[in-house]
Amino acid sequence: ETLDKGLEKSKTDFFSKLGKAVAGKSKVDDEVLDDLEDVLVSSDVGVATTVKIINRIEDRVARDKYLGTDELNKILREEIAALLAETNSGEGTEFYVPTDKKPYVIMVVGVNGVGKTTTIGKLAYQFKKEGKKVVLGAADTFRAAAIDQLQVWADRVDVPIVKQKMGSDPASVAFDSVQSAVKQDADVVIIDTAGRLHNKVNLMNELSKVKRVMQKVVDNSPHEVLLVLDGSTGQNAFEQAKQFTAATEVTSLAVTKLDGTAKGGVVIGISDQFKIPVKYIGVGEGMEDLQVFNKYEFVDSFFK
Ligand code: GDP
Repeated sequence: ETLDKGLEKSKTDFFSKLGKAVAGKSKVDDEVLDDLEDVLVSSDVGVATTVKIINRIEDRVARDKYLGTDELNKILREEIAALLAETNSGEGTEFYVPTDKKPYVIMVVGVNGVGKTTTIGKLAYQFKKEGKKVVLGAADTFRAAAIDQLQVWADRVDVPIVKQKMGSDPASVAFDSVQSAVKQDADVVIIDTAGRLHNKVNLMNELSKVKRVMQKVVDNSPHEVLLVLDGSTGQNAFEQAKQFTAATEVTSLAVTKLDGTAKGGVVIGISDQFKIPVKYIGVGEGMEDLQVFNKYEFVDSFFK
C-alpha cells in the first residue's frame, strides 16, 4: 500500500503521457513506439534502458504481427519485468545480518541532500524493530548539520551514536564507531560518510581510508557499502551512481524520495544499468517510509 502511495505521482504522470501517445490509435505501430520512447525517456528510465525496452516491444510486434494499444500496458509490464529479471537487482531481500558476524558494518555513501541521514535513521529503526542492537557513526564530519541530523535520528530511534566535533577525521570517527559497536556487542553499526563529489580522488582517498580503519577493528568490513540516490533528481542519480561506483566498491543501492516525484522510472533504469542490487526505496520522510525493494512488485504496482 505504501508502495502504491509512493509511486502515485510517477504512475499518474506516466499513464497520462502514455494515454496521449496512444490516443485514437488501436494498433502499436512505429509512431506509437516513437511516442512510447519519449514517454519512457521523460519518465527518467534513461536512454539506454529505454532503447532496450523499445527493442523488446518491437520484437514482440514483429513476432505477433499485431499488437493492440489496449495491450500495451500489459506488454510493457511483462517486458520490463523480463528485462529486470536479467539484472541482479533486488528481489525483496533486505540486508542479511548474520548472527555470527558481529558487528555487521554498513558504510553509507552519497551526495549531501539525497536522504542519506534519513535512510540511516529508517534502517536503524528497522533493525531495532527486529530486536537488533544498532550503533550509528557520524563520520560525515564535514558539515555540522550532518552530525546534528544524525543525532536527531539517533534520539528518535533511541540508538547510541558515536560522534566527534565537526572537522575531525572521518576515519577516526569510523574507527571509534566500529570499536564502540564491538564493545557494546552490537549487531549492526551504520556509518555515515561525507558526500563530497567535487574531487573524485579526494573522495576515493577518504572512503578508502575510512574502510582501512574499519578493517583494523573488524576483518573484511565494511560488509555493505550502501549508496543512497535521490530518485527525484532523475539523471543526476545516474551520474552519481557512476561516480561513486568508480570511487569505491558499492554493494547496494537505496533510492529515496520516490513519493512526490514523477521520476519513479529512474529505479527501472538504475536497476538495469548498474549491476548492483537496489535494496531499499524511500517513500516518505517518516521512520517507517523505507521499503525493501522488490523489482517484480515495483513493476507490478507501477503497471497495475
Ligand atoms: P542527507 O544530506 O543526504 O543526509 O539528506 P537528509 O537525510 O537530511 O534528507 C534531506 C531531506 O530529504 C530531508 O528533508 C528529508 O526529510 C528528505 N527525505 C529523505 N528521504 C526522503 C524520502 O524518501 N521521501 C521524502 N519525501 N523526503 C525524504
